Amino acid sequence: MPPAIWSPYDSPFPPPNRDITKLLRGAGNKNGFEIRVAAEQERYFRIAALQRHPSRWAIQVAARLAGCSRSAPCLRPCCPECTGRMRIWFYAEVARVLQIEQDTAQSRLNIITLVHEDWILKRQQIINLNPKVLIDRVRHQFLRAGGSGAIVIGSVHGEYDKQRQYWQPHLHLVARDLDVRTIYLLRKRHYQRTSLVYRPMVVQPLRDPPPQISYLLKSYWPMRVRHQKSSTFRRIPEPLHSEYLMMQDRFDLLDFVFLLGVRRQGHRLVPLSAPR
Ligand SMILES: [Zn+2]
Repeated sequence: MPPAIWSPYDSPFPPPNRDITKLLRGAGNKNGFEIRVAAEQERYFRIAALQRHPSRWAIQVAARLAGCSRSAPCLRPCCPECTGRMRIWFYAEVARVLQIEQDTAQSRLNIITLVHEDWILKRQQIINLNPKVLIDRVRHQFLRAGGSGAIVIGSVHGEYDKQRQYWQPHLHLVARDLDVRTIYLLRKRHYQRTSLVYRPMVVQPLRDPPPQISYLLKSYWPMRVRHQKSSTFRRIPEPLHSEYLMMQDRFDLLDFVFLLGVRRQGHRLVPLSAPR
């Protein structure tokens, strides 16, 4: 029998102070957490889209999504309901392991976005994305730059660029105790501005944990529409939309998660060394 796949549904539901569904659903909050009903509707939308895609593989992915239920969750990364439950686990564990409730510790915390033009995939090539390879590569970059004392957690995300007609995978991360020199070396060695990537490495302080950390693990990829000075985001059109879902279906939920200086032990994230 193959080993059981880790399921976020088996993890204990977090206490109110680490329950992202409560923290983001407050009055006046525009980017409120998508509730389960919305996630279910999105799952049906994806099933219908996949069923219209010409490949047999897409039909199989649609069938797996259609079979997702509370008693037998599909646990596919392309499932909005299963990803939604994973985000609840993810926020609670990140908040706990980084001790983000302690205000004094927040100055040691940064949100980092990494974008590299080497990760770009042509329109038809999204199926070849392997998040595990990308994560491995970036982990080594961090370690070689001296980031071994830090905790870095996040995930692989991506978008489709409408005008340029390519996919741009990227990483959203939160880091604790990542020193200035490591950040400098990473930027110098790997994340310098190019003609395609204007801001390859963005480092920001963690100011508002619930939205910023929940943003690290998103349940959909958007399409970037470039304007003169900014971009807007829309749903990815077919057949590309189905094709990124098919790529995700090749992996497990945790394959998109970046961990450095911390490992998963059952439902807990455990630091590799004692906190400084
Ligand atoms: Zn599911």
